[in-house]
Amino acid sequence: MGLDIEKIRGLFPVLHQEVHGKPLVYFDNAATTQKPQAVLDALTNYYQHDNSNIHRGAHALADRATRYFEETREAIQHFINAREAAEVIFTKGTTEGINLVASTFRRKFVEKGDEIIISTLEHHSNIVPWQMLCEEKGAILKVIPINEAGEILFEEFEKLLSPKTKLVSIVHASNALGTINPVKQVIDAAHAVGAKVLLDGAQSSSHLNIDVQELDCDFFAFSAHKLYGPTGLGCLYGKREVFETMPPYQGGGEMIKEVTFEKTTYNEIPFKFEAGTPNIGDVIAFKAAIDFINELGKDAIRAHEDELLSYANEQLSQIKGFLPVGTAKEKVSVLSFNINAMHPYDVGMMLDANGIAVRTGHHCTQPLMKRLGLEGTVRASFSVYNSKSEIDKLAEGLSRIARIKNK
Ligand code: PLP
Repeated sequence: MGLDIEKIRGLFPVLHQEVHGKPLVYFDNAATTQKPQAVLDALTNYYQHDNSNIHRGAHALADRATRYFEETREAIQHFINAREAAEVIFTKGTTEGINLVASTFRRKFVEKGDEIIISTLEHHSNIVPWQMLCEEKGAILKVIPINEAGEILFEEFEKLLSPKTKLVSIVHASNALGTINPVKQVIDAAHAVGAKVLLDGAQSSSHLNIDVQELDCDFFAFSAHKLYGPTGLGCLYGKREVFETMPPYQGGGEMIKEVTFEKTTYNEIPFKFEAGTPNIGDVIAFKAAIDFINELGKDAIRAHEDELLSYANEQLSQIKGFLPVGTAKEKVSVLSFNINAMHPYDVGMMLDANGIAVRTGHHCTQPLMKRLGLEGTVRASFSVYNSKSEIDKLAEGLSRIARIKNK
């Protein structure tokens, strides 16, 4: 049986509003998803009843807050099938997870002349930290090319690999085009030359089943806000044996075992990488988002989103001047396109006037846009609470816009 979309929509208060006098159609889910009432309640509940700093507290509130905080860590462990909860570190988001690895990895493992590999599909947050690392260490950044459909050229990737490759950092699913990368093959090939692999899971974590043990990735970074959870929060998974060899990221409270003015010894993972008071309330609320996903089931969510993507493709392809961007065989529910000779921003503004929220521009993937010879695209990205009737509204809106243009 399929999902009851009307019932699911009822769980998201923000969806029930008008924008410019029209019912909101929210198709900007790749940027951030909306939050179910359960997440909002969990956040309020924490501040109303349990607010306290965690770990080491000798009172009931600290005890409760610590327990709920660590329960989220365990929920994430199961969500991505990590071996143990200690392999999950809380961060500010995918960006901070990648920066944590780039910053700590470079201090210990990267020398002049070493190589880091990324792909043409990367978000800026999986480009810039590696450029900074390469600049500082005299290392070399190599980039896997793509075909016109937006798929990486695997044979070209294999040619880039060598014993000098220290790390391959690649997006699991592209935010700009929706392409799902063949990450298992990438990981196996990278491991064969002794390189570690980081997956940018910002988009894949909400659409695909994630099993970090089966994938065998060394790191997996993702953001709570793309998973129906709070903003400014994310997780970095790392294999225990890899995390243990890495120096700490930031110094401060919680990440220490013992401090003297002469020397400090560091805490065990995950605390070694969690200096300072963390985002306790949002971590606790994030568990409600994970519970929401688990109750629906990732397979059912994906089936619904895939159906929306193929329906949108069918409907939009009938519009004169519709130019899809990114036609990979394996995709998550992201539809990037342009309307012939129109600036994406103008299309976005006209859709907004109809209550339809899409994203326009380079989607933080300027090198990818350059490779495709585009200034940007219009991006409609679908989530579990979207419906075919909303896609009909998008198609109607775009037809009107294209007609104005073609007059
Ligand atoms: N990587 C990808 C593929 C993304 O889509 C995003 C956000 O759009 C990020 C990284 C950065 O995520 P955050 O801003 O939550 O750190």
